[in-house]
Amino acid sequence: MSVDVDISGAVHTGRPHIVVMKFGGTSVEDAAAMKRTAAIVAGRRERKLKPVVVVSAMAKVTDQLLAAAAAAGNNDRAGAIALAVKLRERHLATAGQLITGERLMQLAAKLHQEFDALDDLLRGIAAVGELTPRTNDLVVSFGERLSSRMVAACFHEYGLEGVHVDARHCIITDSNYGKAAPNEEAIEAKLHEHILPLVNAGKTPVLGGFIGSNDAGITTTLGRGGSDYTAALVGGGLYAGAIEIWTDVNGIMTTDPRIVPEALRVKTISFEEAAELAYFGAKVLHPATILPAVQKSIPVWVLNSKNAANEGTKIEAMAPHCRSPFKSIAAKKRLTIIDIVASRMLMSHGYLKSVFDVFDKYKCAIDMVSTSEVSISLTVDSNEQLPAICAELGKIADVKYEGRKALVCLVGEDIRGHNGIAGRVFSAISHVNVRMISQGASEINMSFMIDEEDVEEAVRSLHRVFFAEPDENVFDVVATPAASAV
Ligand code: ADP
Ligand code: ASP
Ligand code: MG
Repeated sequence: MSVDVDISGAVHTGRPHIVVMKFGGTSVEDAAAMKRTAAIVAGRRERKLKPVVVVSAMAKVTDQLLAAAAAAGNNDRAGAIALAVKLRERHLATAGQLITGERLMQLAAKLHQEFDALDDLLRGIAAVGELTPRTNDLVVSFGERLSSRMVAACFHEYGLEGVHVDARHCIITDSNYGKAAPNEEAIEAKLHEHILPLVNAGKTPVLGGFIGSNDAGITTTLGRGGSDYTAALVGGGLYAGAIEIWTDVNGIMTTDPRIVPEALRVKTISFEEAAELAYFGAKVLHPATILPAVQKSIPVWVLNSKNAANEGTKIEAMAPHCRSPFKSIAAKKRLTIIDIVASRMLMSHGYLKSVFDVFDKYKCAIDMVSTSEVSISLTVDSNEQLPAICAELGKIADVKYEGRKALVCLVGEDIRGHNGIAGRVFSAISHVNVRMISQGASEINMSFMIDEEDVEEAVRSLHRVFFAEPDENVFDVVATPAASAV
């Protein structure tokens, strides 16, 4: 791997023996999944690798914690506590299936302590009837705090010497609650202080993904799906040899297998392609995951914890050529199109800036933009700020907005070498009403906006057209659904 300079100024060549392994919600959803996870980690240690493990909350727990926080914020104390009771039961029942004896007593005591703190917190929120973004992050952090303790305890049964590390001591962020930005220099220093000594002593550190803390030690989160990002930050900070994202599908597929069950595994994909796919809605990877890995040239693998023998997808700097112009199709729902019509002013100096300043003020990211002589159309994630944004834009233009839109994005570095692709794409979906079209500046994506209810049909048609021809260098020859595997 490449030579990097660490923050102390010392030059080193990375730690190829360290592998950061991130297990998503379904990979820790119950005792059986946690045991599978332990067996996979044990397999890496048998290969003389030194795993550092990052885990998500157990499947669906983050949603349930968010619902509990929201209930408490609406003064529904009983509703919030009822959700917490169910979570307590699920975690304790799982712990009981994982380990026994003294170790179980210790783990159960720790879990009860955490759940008592959660109950107190929910009661406090319900008493004031106000849920701030800061308190919301604290509530939601319990998911990863609990799962990481349980997985660390389970590792003991597998002789892995699992040691639980509170991720909030390592992942230092700003105070943008709900979507905090990491401070990579501070994280690197903390990883050297809290994780590296454990790795060097032959232990397996286990930390929760998604959560961090600001300089003042207050709990923050990295945004939904953020455990992938934690894995990349840990891999980057430790100059690891590889980052593995273990999930419930065979790797990055030619599209979401929930839409097209016969989607194929993509064997190798470039960092750039994977980043576009993630950004435009492929949930398999958090969009920010790639950056720390790219900066340090660390390969990222996406693997299936229910089918560990499968090779998964390798994400690296260069990807092989592909017969199809595309490697994969992503779709992102819950978008809104905003049309801004300002016939006289549009092209005048500074006008676009005043439009974008409004989005900036509300910290609202724009996905796609298209302009005409008299209007601008842009797309944003649907959010509760939209009425305020549009009211403000209404002072300088006529504004309309329409929700329930979706973006479909086809990604592939081989777009460059193919002619007539747009024709093939749009004839495949000629029956669908297309609102906006864009060929990304990066030249590796082609995207368009359609109504949400047309997404499944459009993706299926495109998949039939672009992935019918076998290309065994790049894709699997036949689909292997995870459910039928090991
Ligand atoms: P985890 O809990 O392991 O982080 P996620 O649910 O966040 O897992 O991501 C995995 C899911 O991403 C898959 O079950 C699949 O439905 C979805 N997905 C969307 N697009 C793709 C794609 N191109 N390749 C693979 N999976 C995809
Ligand atoms: N548990 C968090 C979520 O559901 C983070 C993650 O799983 O990546 O969004
Ligand atoms: Mg995920």
